[in-house]
Amino acid sequence: MQTDFDVAVIGGGIAGVSAAAEIAKGASVVLIETERQPGYHSSGRSAALFAPGYGSSAMQALTALSRPFFDAPPEGFADVPLLTPRGLMRTASEDQLAALEALPGHMRDPDRLIWMTGEEAEARAPILRRGHVKRAFLDEGASDIDVHALLQGFLRQAKAAGAQMRMGAPVTALVREGGGWRVTLGDESLRVGVVVNAAGAWADELAGMAGVARVGLQPKRRTAITVAAPEGIDVAALPMIVDAAEDFYVKPDAGRLLASPADETPSAPCDAQPEEMDVAICADRLMTTCAVEVRRIESKWAGLRSFAPDHLPVVGFAPGAPGFFWLAGQGGTGVQTSPGMARLAAKLVLGRPVAEAVGDTGLSAETIAPGRAALAG
Ligand SMILES: Cc1cc2nc3c(=O)[nH]c(=O)nc-3n(C[C@H](O)[C@H](O)[C@H](O)COP(=O)(O)OP(=O)(O)OC[C@H]3O[C@@H](n4cnc5c(N)ncnc54)[C@H](O)[C@@H]3O)c2cc1C
Repeated sequence: MQTDFDVAVIGGGIAGVSAAAEIAKGASVVLIETERQPGYHSSGRSAALFAPGYGSSAMQALTALSRPFFDAPPEGFADVPLLTPRGLMRTASEDQLAALEALPGHMRDPDRLIWMTGEEAEARAPILRRGHVKRAFLDEGASDIDVHALLQGFLRQAKAAGAQMRMGAPVTALVREGGGWRVTLGDESLRVGVVVNAAGAWADELAGMAGVARVGLQPKRRTAITVAAPEGIDVAALPMIVDAAEDFYVKPDAGRLLASPADETPSAPCDAQPEEMDVAICADRLMTTCAVEVRRIESKWAGLRSFAPDHLPVVGFAPGAPGFFWLAGQGGTGVQTSPGMARLAAKLVLGRPVAEAVGDTGLSAETIAPGRAALAG
């Protein structure tokens, strides 16, 4: 079939933009996004943390594979560092001591962590309310990600490699045609060889549009607020603080505090908005954990974190639907895994060996493939 592009990447969040940049090195690419701006949905609403021990083992492998890119991006990729050391402190109040001990081993890796008493935790994070934390550990390997620089860097890379952009262009139909796909976006109709489904919370809907079996993705809403920092504390030096039960977190954000009740409310794919109840719960947990009086919420937002039933990402060609490639289910780690996941996705899309993209992490492409047993039926 004569095609307009080898590959259409659908979704201009961090997953789609990073994949477009990698795939464009070996194929002609069009990147298609509903919104006028890339990163408008989940990718622009994250807590922007790089946490090596967070998420499933596959996500940890993809995070490790992404680290070299974050530390040394290609020449000209960004004019600021992509990572800035932050540190991640997991804290336990009296009733969370068992939960802290019960965190999976990989999150409590003794080589990486510094265990602390409540007093030591307060010394390292003086914002903590006196006496609230009984035990904690600090992971100094966690960093802030400059998500804007990351997204813009991938966009620039994609364009430099020849990728074309269609922003403000929702895909409304996907039909198999002559061994490839016909993609309808507004008044335009494109013939492409491969479709990459990087539609985030909408990925199952996009599959349904193409007549491809859904994988059972569940978007879950998560809320965040910012408030003024308390007087007299250098918030910039604070680590991110996450309680042992992951019911709450707080981190510095441009001189203010960013906090979340770490909610995981199932949602339909949508432009997620914060619920007043979640904002109130967040403010309450912030004042319980930290010596902060919340007088005013400066900003609030919500975003969707989308999970497959087994919480692993979904990366690979759909069984029985030639040319339909999944890049979805990034859950709560889609930003920190994006360089590694994009690289792996590009190898698979371009039909190249994946050994180099998975390194010695033990990650196998079969584990995260859409045809795996956990997603069957
Ligand atoms: C509050 C919060 C905190 C988080 N914190 C972190 C963190 O600290 N670190 C981390 O790594 N991750 C974090 N995450 C998770 C991270 O944000 C996501 O995993 C990641 O953004 C997913 O990227 P994506 O590109 O798949 O999705 P999105 O950014 O949502 O992009 C998908 C895009 O597809 C487009 N689309 C959908 N359907 C169509 C269509 N038919 N046609 C064209 N375009 C379409 C949408 O408009 C959307 O822009 C957090 C998420 C939230 C909500």
